[in-house]
Amino acid sequence: MTLTALRQQLLAGETTPTAILARLAGAIAARDGRTGAYLSHHLEAAMAEAAHADLSLPLGGIPIAIKDNINVLGQPCTCGSKFLSENYRSPYDATVIRKLRAAGAIPFGRMNLDEFAMGSSTENSALQTTRNPHDLQRIPGGSSGGSAAAVADHTAVAALGSDTGGSIRQPASHCGVVGLKPSYGRVSRYGLVAFASSLDQIGPLTRSVEDAARILQAIAGPDPLDSTCLDVPVPDYLGGLNDGVKGLKLGLPQEYFGDGIDPGVRRQVEAAVQALAAQGAELVDLSLPHTAYAVATYYVIAPAEASSNLSRFDGIRYGHRAANPADIADLYQRSREEGFGPEVKRRIILGTYVLSSGYYDAYYGRAQQVRTLIRRDFESAFARVDAILSPVVPTPARKLGGTAIDPLHEYLSDVFTLAPNLAGICAISVPCGVTAFDGGSALPVGLQILGPHLGEARLLRIARAAELNA
Ligand code: GLN
Repeated sequence: MTLTALRQQLLAGETTPTAILARLAGAIAARDGRTGAYLSHHLEAAMAEAAHADLSLPLGGIPIAIKDNINVLGQPCTCGSKFLSENYRSPYDATVIRKLRAAGAIPFGRMNLDEFAMGSSTENSALQTTRNPHDLQRIPGGSSGGSAAAVADHTAVAALGSDTGGSIRQPASHCGVVGLKPSYGRVSRYGLVAFASSLDQIGPLTRSVEDAARILQAIAGPDPLDSTCLDVPVPDYLGGLNDGVKGLKLGLPQEYFGDGIDPGVRRQVEAAVQALAAQGAELVDLSLPHTAYAVATYYVIAPAEASSNLSRFDGIRYGHRAANPADIADLYQRSREEGFGPEVKRRIILGTYVLSSGYYDAYYGRAQQVRTLIRRDFESAFARVDAILSPVVPTPARKLGGTAIDPLHEYLSDVFTLAPNLAGICAISVPCGVTAFDGGSALPVGLQILGPHLGEARLLRIARAAELNA
């Protein structure tokens, strides 16, 4: 059931928060063994909260699954890493958790992810494998793969994820659920373990657009604890949700419909575009000329920021500490060597390289300049159109491949999701059908809709119209 439908049942007295949790616990016991979405859950504490849930609040009595890189007081926050899986417990609630609680929701369950959110498959988790509930031989996508898989598998009502370059939208697309990346500055990141601070945003993964709107409503808004979180009013995301797309201008960027897209993905996305046109939207061809540089730009900036953010994991303050160090340098080195997995090390090495003196101007400085060009592409596009439509990922979910996967090939698959983070705009993935691919028969496909900075209200309205066609 959707969050919205469960709320109606709660208000009608047809169910209770503890009954919802008990049913979830049953579903997890029955199915999570094969999906592997949960790293841990805390049923007793959640039951105690559910017993006192205030149903008059907007999310009263609704359990929400949380990606395991968002801090919840007293719970683990492993970030999918050996570094934090031994003994770390969160000393505080992230702002989004505080806001969810204030709206009556119950943070329940810690969801698997690529280590420190670095990846697109959840295979980079150091802790366990998560499988796509539509085909257990396939990846759920990532890095919020546990969040997406649980919502798709009906072992969670709704979830929070984080999105630095697609980590909410891409797993949502692969698992057939809705995933919203809010605009940079719309939602506080206080209490999100930082990956790349100029790109990271927290957002919902849900079974409907309306559910996503309800969660965004609860978590959006200013926060004195995150100076990048904007002090601007939060609009009503639910009021205009069903107003449709009649008269709206929707842009089709030629760079997002070129070669390399799986034919089944192309067919479903184009059908979704035509269905919006049939509802009265006007389609506008346009160009985002710097799109070809998004992958290279992102994979300089994101590792650069990651190398800085991850320097705090040094064996002194958080998590894993190497045994019997010879001296302080040995303690730092071995703690990091033992605690981080291969992809995280690759990012730290790349990031340190592009920031080092002699290379800074050639790589990091250049990337920042190209980032400005990418942002301007979107600014001129949004002067002409209300939103932009594209695929989320070039192909449906691939098979699980473990360490045989080539990192460069993985990076290239992020081609459609990185630019919105570089530009700071909002973006959503909405299911738009299924297709056969590489031996799989009915694999979900997502439609990506991009909106201007802080344009979530209209983005959700367009997404709602697209959802009605799917
Ligand atoms: N796949 C991208 C990466 O590996 C994006 C990850 C994310 O959004 N957290 O960096």
